[in-house]
Amino acid sequence: MDRKQKTGAHGKARKQDDPAWKRESGWLKLPAAERPRVDAYGRDYITFLSRAKTEREAHDVALAQAQKHGFVDLDLLPERAGVLKPGMAVYRSWRGKTLMLARLGRRPPEEGLHIVGGHTDSPRLDAKCRPLYEDGGMALLDTHYYGGIKKYQWVAMPLAVHGVVVRQDGSKVDVVLGEKASDPVLTITDLLPHLGAEQAKLTLAEGIKGEGLNVLVGSIPVQDEKTKEPIKRRILDWLRAEYGICEEDLASAELEFVPAGSARECGLDRSMILGYGQDDRICAYAALRAILDLDRTPDRTAVVLLCDKEEIGSVGLSGMDSVFFENSVAAMLRRCRPAAVDADARRRLCLERSRMISADVNALHDPNYPDVSSPNGNMAQLNGGLVVAKYGGSRGKSGSSEATAEFMADIRRIFNGAGVVWQPGELGKVDAGGGGTIALFLARYGMDVVDAGPGLLSMHAPWEVSGKLDAYMAWKAYRAFFADCRVVSPALS
Ligand code: MN
Ligand code: MN
Repeated sequence: MDRKQKTGAHGKARKQDDPAWKRESGWLKLPAAERPRVDAYGRDYITFLSRAKTEREAHDVALAQAQKHGFVDLDLLPERAGVLKPGMAVYRSWRGKTLMLARLGRRPPEEGLHIVGGHTDSPRLDAKCRPLYEDGGMALLDTHYYGGIKKYQWVAMPLAVHGVVVRQDGSKVDVVLGEKASDPVLTITDLLPHLGAEQAKLTLAEGIKGEGLNVLVGSIPVQDEKTKEPIKRRILDWLRAEYGICEEDLASAELEFVPAGSARECGLDRSMILGYGQDDRICAYAALRAILDLDRTPDRTAVVLLCDKEEIGSVGLSGMDSVFFENSVAAMLRRCRPAAVDADARRRLCLERSRMISADVNALHDPNYPDVSSPNGNMAQLNGGLVVAKYGGSRGKSGSSEATAEFMADIRRIFNGAGVVWQPGELGKVDAGGGGTIALFLARYGMDVVDAGPGLLSMHAPWEVSGKLDAYMAWKAYRAFFADCRVVSPALS
């Protein structure tokens, strides 16, 4: 738009009645007094991100913080503790991976919950069940990638391994290796360019193959001429000495290879954060902090869901396609009114009357790849605020859980009322691709759901970029949603 059009027939630019809608940097909308809070939040988030590099670690860190804030285990709450009352805080943990936190509201839960749900699993490389082998004078670990990765991004970089090994007797070994300065790191090799002429002709998807993602772990043999695989033998000896595990124990393990090292501030102006697993721990952390930071008993029961398995379709026992959440709501309702009849109908009504923010990341306009951006102001910008996505999906919104216009309007009311800097966003231009979140697994209960989370650059890459202001606004938005008191319940009216 040139200057002439801007001043146009009306003599001056139309005054925006809503400052949140104005398309400019979020930094210009942020009150000066809030600037230090953005930086402080960024520091806390970087600490979380650096400690929680797997779904299990995120679960454990979140649970420890919740317990410190007085959340108690719903499953272990003795009957003599009586009924759940407004203000009480409970959690339900599932397999050490998925976690529900709830703070009871002043209204009975049957009138609907306010849910913020994000996921804590991220794309990575998992060790196979028989991972260790020897080849070419080296010992390697074979992997199977998890989630949507660009394979070429995972070679020739330092890797750490995080996870658990469970022995036959049920005893468990926690593994974190490659994070301390004194730890060794692991890596996957790439071809030298001198010999890479044929590889260079392949597409990015073909240049590094899934079966090429083998992690280099050793090269010293044992001194025993009878041993067929002396380097592998030596690694097995080391595993036994270091962790007390044998080779078969690796079959009952979850070992995840992730980029080694901590999250960092990014940019000369320190306005961004570079870190692994920001999809979706940026939202998981914001949701966790939002419920822990609630200073008053909310009107509606506030619920945070930190879910596993989103990156592979939310399937399996710890994904949102399971009945974990439904069962948890049933357990919570029973503890609120143990004598009530029609538990099934009450649970269904509760879910139907609930409202949810599906807290997941979105795409941002990237000047390096402008061709895939949704044009005409429909692509979110870095540090332009929390991205609210009415719909996702691919092609003709296929697979999308679309928020209603009515719920979008109510989210606008809540965010604008609380001074949240937000922007609408689409996952790229029409027909460029697409994606989904956990939204549809909750929307099927009939509840209102909208996607809202910060945008990322380099999403799903080993190191993802977020904006500090966007990260902070996620926390502010989720907290405002929990604190909202207006009765909006179509099922009750
Ligand atoms: Mn995600
Ligand atoms: Mn993702």
